[in-house]
Amino acid sequence: MSSGSDTSAPAVDVADDAGICAALAGAAARGELALAYQPQLCLRSGQIVGAEALMRWHSPRLGTVSPARFIPLAESSGLIVGLGDWLIDEVCAQLQRWRAQALPPLRVALNLAPAQFSHGDLGAAVRAALARHGVEPSLLALEFTEAALVAGSPANSAALRALQREGVQLVLDDFGTGASSLRSLRSLPFSLVKIHDSFIRELPQDPDGLTVTRSIIHLAHALGYQVLAEGVETPGQLQMLHDEQCDQMQGYLYSPPVAPEAFVRLLREGRRL
Ligand code: C2E
Ligand code: CA
Ligand code: CA
Repeated sequence: MSSGSDTSAPAVDVADDAGICAALAGAAARGELALAYQPQLCLRSGQIVGAEALMRWHSPRLGTVSPARFIPLAESSGLIVGLGDWLIDEVCAQLQRWRAQALPPLRVALNLAPAQFSHGDLGAAVRAALARHGVEPSLLALEFTEAALVAGSPANSAALRALQREGVQLVLDDFGTGASSLRSLRSLPFSLVKIHDSFIRELPQDPDGLTVTRSIIHLAHALGYQVLAEGVETPGQLQMLHDEQCDQMQGYLYSPPVAPEAFVRLLREGRRL
């Protein structure tokens, strides 16, 4: 999946994996990376309650490369650890800039790849970035999938629990697509579970999509977690999520991921769902 801006780079299709990895090494230091922010809204109030930070890479040689292409390569090559360090620092720096602009405090979620759970000290990196930019831990959310939980060691789980006790929010991403969903749900104190857009896409026509979505919402609520539906594109999907008491949504229906300045405009406009 990608936002519209990811399509402007035909050159990347002919670049091989090694070429992409070579260009990606040092991309952060050369200032080629940026973050787009996609609003997350409360279904009851219709207001923006958070944002997901999504990485964008514009290579002078390859053009704009979709994260669906470069993130898996960054993971398999180990480059993801450096990208992740840049990401954690940049999200905290952005939160600090927004506070300086007197924006209301807002939760920002960043994505952690499975490889980041087995390399380096994730807890120390997060804590250091929060301290460096003077950011309240409760404004930061860490999104990761069940695959990351499987890749991580018990030490990683302990590090995540420690961050959660300090206020950092833990979010289970793409729920329902992994192999060990029910175990994953209980493995850590999540504040939010995200329903993968493949289930949402089938709403409202497909009875199976509705059954799965309804079951995930009930299960997550029974465990005390909030639920966010991703990839919401139509009013029909939104209505169904309302009816099923889903808590939050994210999707093109309201806004694609946008540059930080455009995100601030969305916040100041105050347009509701
Ligand atoms: P994800 O974490 O599941 O992110 C959601 C993806 O869905 C994003 O694609 C977003 O642009 C797209 N999306 C949002 N709303 C809609 C919608 O209504 N319809 C459709 N069709 N798509 C929608 P994007 O930005 O291309 O990112 C793709 C994946 O790349 C992400 O999936 C995530 O797994 C990974 N990724 C992106 N940024 C990062 C990052 O900073 N770090 C890591 N580790 N992974 C990242
Ligand atoms: Ca995500
Ligand atoms: Ca997701």
